[in-house]
Amino acid sequence: MTAVLPPGTPTVQGNHLISTSPATGDEAGRVPVAAAVDVERAVERARAAGQWWAGLGYTERRERLLRWRRLLAQRMEELAGLMHAEGGKPVADALVEIVTAVEHVDWAARNARRVLGPRRVRSRLVLAEFSAHLEYQPHGVVGVIGPWNYPVFTPIGSIAYALAAGNAVVFKPSEYTPVVGQWLVDSFAEVVPEHPVLTAVHGLGDVGAALCRAGVDKLAFTGSTATAKKVMAACAESLTPVLLEAGGKDAMIVDSDADLDAAAEACVWGAMTNAGQTCIGIERAYAVEPVFDAFVDKVVERAGRLTVGPRDADIGPITMPSQLDVIRRHIEDAVARGGRAVLGGPEAVRPPYAHPTVLVEVPEQAAAVREETFGPTLTINRVRTADEALARANALPYGLGGSVFGQRRAVAIARRLRSGMASVNSTLTFAGMSTLPFGGVGESGFGRIHGEDGLREFARAKAVTRRRGRSLLPSTTFERTPADVARLVKAVKLLYGR
Ligand code: NDP
Repeated sequence: MTAVLPPGTPTVQGNHLISTSPATGDEAGRVPVAAAVDVERAVERARAAGQWWAGLGYTERRERLLRWRRLLAQRMEELAGLMHAEGGKPVADALVEIVTAVEHVDWAARNARRVLGPRRVRSRLVLAEFSAHLEYQPHGVVGVIGPWNYPVFTPIGSIAYALAAGNAVVFKPSEYTPVVGQWLVDSFAEVVPEHPVLTAVHGLGDVGAALCRAGVDKLAFTGSTATAKKVMAACAESLTPVLLEAGGKDAMIVDSDADLDAAAEACVWGAMTNAGQTCIGIERAYAVEPVFDAFVDKVVERAGRLTVGPRDADIGPITMPSQLDVIRRHIEDAVARGGRAVLGGPEAVRPPYAHPTVLVEVPEQAAAVREETFGPTLTINRVRTADEALARANALPYGLGGSVFGQRRAVAIARRLRSGMASVNSTLTFAGMSTLPFGGVGESGFGRIHGEDGLREFARAKAVTRRRGRSLLPSTTFERTPADVARLVKAVKLLYGR
C-alpha cells in the first residue's frame, strides 16, 4: 500500500520532479531531475557562458538585465499565477513579491558599474610614488540555492546581483517551487538567448549538495539554518566561499510612545503575511507594560479579521505540509507552559491551513519564542521597559531583522537590536529597499545580498598598484642603502610617532 501524500508534496516520477499545489494537490508543472553529473556539466557550461557574459562589460549587461526587468514587469500576472498555483501564495502577495524583485533587478543593473567598476584610489605618503587602482571582478560561476517561501524575491536577491557583477549563475530552486524557478530561468533566456548565463538544476536536497561540490566559485544559499551548516561544510571541502541567508525569529518592540494602531497593523502584516512563512517575519512581539493590553487587543481584532483559504484570501495554505506539525507543536507547547491563546490555538491548525494564532505571556523558554515557527502565529509578551524588550529580543542565537514602534527612542532601540536589519514604525520594509544590504548575524547566517554590499558579495576585490615615479624613500629593494632605511624610519617617526 502506498501512503497518500498531502497535497503540495513534491514527488519524483522517473526523471521528473512533479510539483503540486498545497491547497488542491493539482499539478503545477514538472521539471527534469538532475544527476550529480548533470550538475557538473551545468557548471562547466556556465563557466564558458560566464566568460562571454563578463566580456560584455557593464553597459551591455545593464541593457540586458533591464530587458529582463521589463519582461518580469510585463508578465507579472502570469508569474504570480504560477506562484499561486505552485506554492499556494495569495496572488496579491505574489504580485508584491515580484514588484520587490523587479526593483532589485533594476537597481543591481543600474549600479553595478558605479559600485564595482575600476577606479583610482588615493595613495598615501608612504608609497606616494605609486598610484592605486581598485575594481571588483566576477567570481565566475555562482551557485544559488533557494527556498520555497519567496521563490522569486529570494533567489533574485542573489541572482540579479551576481549577474550584474558579471557572473554566470546555476540556480537550484527548492523542490517545492521548481516550476517558478524554471520560469525565471526561461524568462532570462528570452532576453539573453546566446549562452546559458542563468540555468537551473532541479531535484531534492542531494542536488543542492551536488551543486556545492560541482566547482562553483561561490555558493549563495538561502534556507534553514540546519541546511546552511551542511552547505558550509560541503563548500569547505573545496574552500568555496559561501553566502548564507538562514532562518530567523524576528522580534517587534512596542515602546510606550508608539502609535498603537500603526504598530498593530504592521505587526499583523509582519507576522501573518505569506501565512507567516517569512524569514524576516515577526514571530515575537514585546510591548511595554502601559501599552501592552491595548496593543494585544488591537492585534487580535485585526488578526481575527484575516481570511484563510485557497484563493482571494489573506492567508493561503502552508506550502510545506510537514511545517503544519511544527506550527501545532509550538502552539501546544506554549499553552502547556502557561501561555494564553487569545486568538486561535492548537485547533487553528487545519491542514492545509493554519489560521491566525496570537499567544500572550508565553514563557521565554517555549519553542514558540525560541524556534522558527514559520506559520501565522505570534507571541506577545509584556515587558517593563524597552531595555528589557531588547534583552529578550537579543537573547536568541538568530539575528536577522526586527522592528521597533515608538518615537523618541525608536531608532536608538533599532540600532541596539542584534540583527542585520531593522524597520522603525514599519515591518519588513528593509527587504524592498534595494539600496540597503540584507542579511543576518549569528545563526541567521552571514554575508549580504542587496545594495552595494550585495553587489560586492558577488565579486572579488582586485587591487593594482602602478609605479608613477622614483621612490623617495626606497625600502622594498635590495638596492636600498642604510641611509635610505634611516630616512624612512625618521619619516615614519615624524608622521606617526607623535
Ligand atoms: P531548506 O534549508 O530546507 O532548503 C533550502 C534549499 O536547500 C532547498 O533548495 C533545498 O533543496 C536545499 N537543500 C536541502 N538539503 C541540502 C543540502 N544538504 N545541501 C545543499 N542544499 C540542500 O529551507 P526551506 O526551503 O525550508 O526554506 C525555509 C527557510 O529559509 C527558513 O528557515 C527561512 O527562514 C529561510 N529563509 C531565509 C531567508 C534569508 O534571506 N535569510 C529568506 C527566505 C527564507 P530541497 O528543497 O530540494 O530539499
